[in-house]
Amino acid sequence: MYKSFLIKYAEIAIKGKNRYLFEDALVGQIKYALRAAEGEFAVRRLQGRIYVDALSDYDYDEVIEALSRVFGIVGICPVVLAEDEGFDKLAEDVIAYMDSVYPDKRMTFKVNARRARKNYPMNSMELNAALGEKILDAFPEIKVDVHHPSVLLCVEIREKINIYSTEIKGPGGMPVGTNGRAMLLLSGGIDSPVAGYMIAKRGVAIDATYFHAPPYTSERAKQKVVDLAKILSAYAGPVRLHVVNFTEIQLYIYEKCPHEELTILMRRYMMRIAEHFAGENKCLGLVTGESIGQVASQTMQSLAATDAVCRMPVYRPLIGFDKSEIIEISEKIGAYETSIQPFEDCCTIFVAKHPVTKPNLNVIERSEQRLCEKIDRLVQTAVETAEHIRVAAEEG
Ligand code: ATP
Ligand code: MG
Repeated sequence: MYKSFLIKYAEIAIKGKNRYLFEDALVGQIKYALRAAEGEFAVRRLQGRIYVDALSDYDYDEVIEALSRVFGIVGICPVVLAEDEGFDKLAEDVIAYMDSVYPDKRMTFKVNARRARKNYPMNSMELNAALGEKILDAFPEIKVDVHHPSVLLCVEIREKINIYSTEIKGPGGMPVGTNGRAMLLLSGGIDSPVAGYMIAKRGVAIDATYFHAPPYTSERAKQKVVDLAKILSAYAGPVRLHVVNFTEIQLYIYEKCPHEELTILMRRYMMRIAEHFAGENKCLGLVTGESIGQVASQTMQSLAATDAVCRMPVYRPLIGFDKSEIIEISEKIGAYETSIQPFEDCCTIFVAKHPVTKPNLNVIERSEQRLCEKIDRLVQTAVETAEHIRVAAEEG
């Protein structure tokens, strides 16, 4: 029965000039998300509001699901838009609305009218009282409850009259594209896709870099990361995925350096290479899925040793999260089932039995000296041979 959805967004972020940037990005992301839903839609801005109009048949759940992935939306209200043809017609429309949305009338309600157009002859208080009375007359089983109504019927007098009583919670955050771009180090694990989701939620667009080690890691392992990037892109917009062949670098580190330092040394080269692509793509920072103390390479000392090679800031949105909290988000965003598929990871293949947990930066830097003969060329080759894949959400 709904032909339109009223999109509510937080006003706080959109003072002054930012308003246009915010709303433009929000409209863009809504259009992008709706590609996943069957049907044709128009997204329209009107007097500081955004409406999604269905121009064809559509699946209600599909639309809600798509809109629920758009950061910046705080509420989705299926709305009936009525022409202003006088109070009697409005009362009729409101009664018809209540009748079709609530077949079971054993409920309490309250009218919440708002006169956004001041030339309307009745004010909000008068509308509340008059519409309430009409509804009580039409449906004797219904009761008014002004404190805790089970149904809050919103009637807003605008260019058209907006009638709605349902607000589905949106994901919050800010529209992707309003806060720059960052480079996510995306592995096939549970954490990094969640880290990408968290940073995108704050309006940041995403590039991703994945390191693999063929033939030690398989084509399937890589496909899993492409799949994760696709899941992420349903929230974050199109993602440019850079796939780097890390094998030669790993073998060289393995040959030359103490094995207990492998993970830290690898991580430092990952960061350097990711930062290279980040620079090329105007990213303003790096993002990883690390959280303090989760594994040996995520102690404060290890994170410091990794950071020491980066010029860009490194963002770690999961820094204070427990694994169980990360898994909860992973499940919520639909990544978990893919993340737990058992494919080999380049880090686990060359991992030491007893990795250092408190690396000393001087010691690590000295170890890297042992690589000086070939490492620059290997990094150069890894950069030059990287594969670049544009990943976007599936269309409906
Ligand atoms: P994840 O679940 O994200 O793989 P993890 O708990 O397995 O994380 P690590 O393997 O130590 O932790 O990786 C820490 C972070 O380093 C990851 O969250 C990711 O950002 C980055 N990273 C690790 N391996 C890779 C890889 N092969 N390609 C790109 N980034 C990686
Ligand atoms: Mg991992």
